[in-house]
Amino acid sequence: MARTKQTAKLSSGGVAPRVRLIVRDPRDVESTPNRAITSTGLPLPHQQDRATLPDVALDLQVQPAGLVRPCLQTLFSLGASEAIQDENNDFCHMCSDGGELWGCNVCVRSVCKKCLKVPRKDYLVIQHEDVKFLCVSCHLMDDNATKSVAPYMGFYRDRKSVLSQPPRIVGRFKQSPKSVIRASVTAVLHLRLNEYIPAKGPINMLFDFLRPFFVHSGGLVTADVPFDLGTEWKKKTYLERATKIVKKILAVRPSHVVFVISTHTDEDRGDLFAGVEGGKPICAEVQEFFEILLGPFADLTPDSALYVLSCGRYIRHSASRKDFIKTVGSFGFSATIAFDAPRFHSTVAWSFLVMLTESVVIRGHSFDDAVPIALANSNELKRHSGVYTLLLSTDRKLVNTTKYLWAHRDYRPWGKDVPIQCPSCCATQEKWHRVRSTDPKVYRFQCKNPDCVSDRLHQVGPYWFEVKKPKRVKMLSQGKSSKAAWTKKHLRPTPVECRRH
Ligand SMILES: [Zn+2]
Ligand SMILES: [Zn+2]
Ligand SMILES: [Zn+2]
Ligand SMILES: [Zn+2]
Repeated sequence: MARTKQTAKLSSGGVAPRVRLIVRDPRDVESTPNRAITSTGLPLPHQQDRATLPDVALDLQVQPAGLVRPCLQTLFSLGASEAIQDENNDFCHMCSDGGELWGCNVCVRSVCKKCLKVPRKDYLVIQHEDVKFLCVSCHLMDDNATKSVAPYMGFYRDRKSVLSQPPRIVGRFKQSPKSVIRASVTAVLHLRLNEYIPAKGPINMLFDFLRPFFVHSGGLVTADVPFDLGTEWKKKTYLERATKIVKKILAVRPSHVVFVISTHTDEDRGDLFAGVEGGKPICAEVQEFFEILLGPFADLTPDSALYVLSCGRYIRHSASRKDFIKTVGSFGFSATIAFDAPRFHSTVAWSFLVMLTESVVIRGHSFDDAVPIALANSNELKRHSGVYTLLLSTDRKLVNTTKYLWAHRDYRPWGKDVPIQCPSCCATQEKWHRVRSTDPKVYRFQCKNPDCVSDRLHQVGPYWFEVKKPKRVKMLSQGKSSKAAWTKKHLRPTPVECRRH
C-alpha cells in the first residue's frame, strides 16, 4: 500500500463551510438562517475530477524504452511490503505543510493531497497492499539522470501505473525540489546577558517558526541561559546551571545544536559585556569572554552552530577578530555567524537567521549553500550589517572565514561606505556623481556642488575621490537590480588550536 499519513498542518487555512454574514433580504432570515452552502466544504468527487482532469484515460508508457530511470527502477525492485526508508517526512516537500500525505517509497519525502491531485475514483485502488508511490522529486531526479522527460504517474503496481489518469501536480515547490523536510532532534540555547537582554525577545521568532515542525517528533529542546559573570560566586552559579543543561541536552542526543549569544560590546575596545556590577555593565576581552561563557558547554559545542548577536566592534577590529576566530575554532563549532554593524539591532537579523536555520536544520542544506540564499532574501539586513561566517573545514584543521557585505554601485561600492557629505565644501550628497574611470576596477565619485573647489594640490574642479575594488572580492548572484549585490570575500584560514583549559 502506498503509505498514507495524516499530520498536523502548519498553516491555519483550509476548507470551511461558507455561511452568509450579511443578510440582504430580511425574508432570508426566516427561510435560511446562516445556512452552510456545502455541509463538508469539500467539492463532490465528480465535480472536482471534471474540473481539473481530462475525461480520457491516457495510455502512457511507464518507462520509455531504452532509458533506465534510477528511482523508478528502485521502486520496481522493492518487495511487496518493502520500503527503503522507515519513516517519511511529516510535511509535504512541495508546500511544506502537513495534512494528508503520501509517503514516497524510494525516499523520505511526502506529498500532500493538496499538491498532488489523484482522481477520487482511484483512492481505493492506491490503498492496495502492493501499490507503491514515487514522489515528484524522485521523478524529477530521474528526468535529470536520464536527460529526458516522462509523464509522471506516481502510483505503481507490478511496474504499471494504477491510476485511471495521471495525477496532477498542482503544488509548487516552496524550496528547491531536492530539499527534504526532516525534523531531527534539535537543541537551541540562548545565552543572554541577564538584565540587558530579555528572555522574551526576538529569539522567539526562531522558536515559533521551528516549533510546528517538531509537533510529531517532539524533538525541539530550547534553553534560556541568562548569564552574569561579574563575580566568582555568580560564575559558580552559572557553571552549575550550565552543567545541568548540558546533561539534559546530551540525554536527548540532538542532531543539531544551535548556540545563540546575545550581549553588547564596549564601543572603544570591542570587549564584550559579561555581566552587571552595581547596576553597570562590565566587560571582558574577547577570548576570555567566550572561554568563560562557553567553557561549561564544551561537551556540546563540537559540530554545533553559533550565532553571535552583538555590536560588531569585536569583529571589526582585526586583533580581536583573530582572537574570536581562534576561540570559536578551539570549541569545534562547525559554523559561526557574526555581524559587524557598529550598533547592531538583532531584530534586523532575525529573518535572516530564521531562514538560515530552516535551510540547515529542517532541510538539511550546508551553511555554505544556505548563507547566500538567506542573504539574498534579507532586505533589512543589507544596509544594516555585514555578515561573517566561520566554517570549520571537513578535516577540522582550519576555520574558513568569509565576509559578506552588501554592495551598491552608487551608495556602497564593493561594500564600502561612502561619506554623505563633501569634505571640501560640506554639501550633502545623497548620491555622488559617478565619473567614468579608465580602470574598470576603480569607481570615481565627484561632488555634485558646481561651486565646489577642492583644496587638494594640482586639482581643479569639484572634489573627487576614488574607490578601488578590494582584492579577492566576489559578487554573489545579483537580484533584481544589476547595481546591487552581496559581495563575498574569503579571509585567510585560521588553523584550529586545542582549547586551553
Ligand atoms: Zn503540499
Ligand atoms: Zn521520492
Ligand atoms: Zn549594543
Ligand atoms: Zn564639494
